[in-house]
Parts: sequence; C-alpha cells; structure tokens
Amino acid sequence: MSLVRQFKNFRWDEVDLLAYKEGGPYRGVTRQILFEGVPELPSQWRYFEVEGGGHSTLERHEHLHNVLILRGRGRCLVDGLIYELNEHDLVHVPKLSWHQFRAAEDSPLGFLCLVADERDRPQLPTEADLIVLCKNKAVADFIRP
Ligand code: MN
Repeated sequence: MSLVRQFKNFRWDEVDLLAYKEGGPYRGVTRQILFEGVPELPSQWRYFEVEGGGHSTLERHEHLHNVLILRGRGRCLVDGLIYELNEHDLVHVPKLSWHQFRAAEDSPLGFLCLVADERDRPQLPTEADLIVLCKNKAVADFIRP
C-alpha cells in the first residue's frame, strides 16, 4: 500500500469499491476499506456511500462506530432518536444501540466509519424488537427493516 493514495470523486487510489455487506436488508450502499487494521492500530477505517433514497441495514452490535459525514445529506437513527445529517457532522453509535443511515432522496450520503478489528457480528431486529422500536412513531416512520 502506498503511503499516500490520492482522492478523486469519492474514490481513492488502490482502494476497491466493494459491496456493502453480505446479506442483511439494505439499498444502494457501497463500501471502501481505506485503512486495514494492523497490530499497532487494530481498527478498520471504511468509507460507505448510500445513494439517494438508499439506506444501510437496521442493526445493532456490541462494538462501537465513530462516523464522520463526508458527502451529502441524510438522516440516521441512533439509540431511539432520528438526526439530520450534513457534511462534517459526527455520529457516535454506542454499544447495542439500533442504528440505520438513510440518504436524502436527492442526495447521496457518504461517511467514514471507524471500527475495531475485533468485533461481533451485527444483529438484525426480530419481530419482537420491531414491535418495541415501532412504539416510537418517529422511529416507526424512519426505519427500513
Ligand atoms: Mn453497525
């Protein structure tokens, strides 16, 4: 890997454009792995891009996310609340909080996401989880399970 990899149009030299993930309900999301973990820094730094009208998977897990919005606009659910997102906003996703990112209809939503190398698999909501989540009308209207 080169020490410096240049950026053009939300792609980086030597970085592959990947599918978001295997399985799980999502729409219009790509993934680029910018930095892989090494023993001295056991973390992965990814760039996800959600196309206009698309969304990430509604999920939760033990591990944390630190997110920086790099492109466009959208909204997210984090821990029971819906937030507007604009370029350069920061999002912290706590342990076991339900989260989902949605791009605006007319704009992509691109974000950097930092995760630890060692992390648990995401959990998808069960029917019982969805019943609980949907008791909040704002959350019910927002989520795309
Ligand atoms: Mn997640």
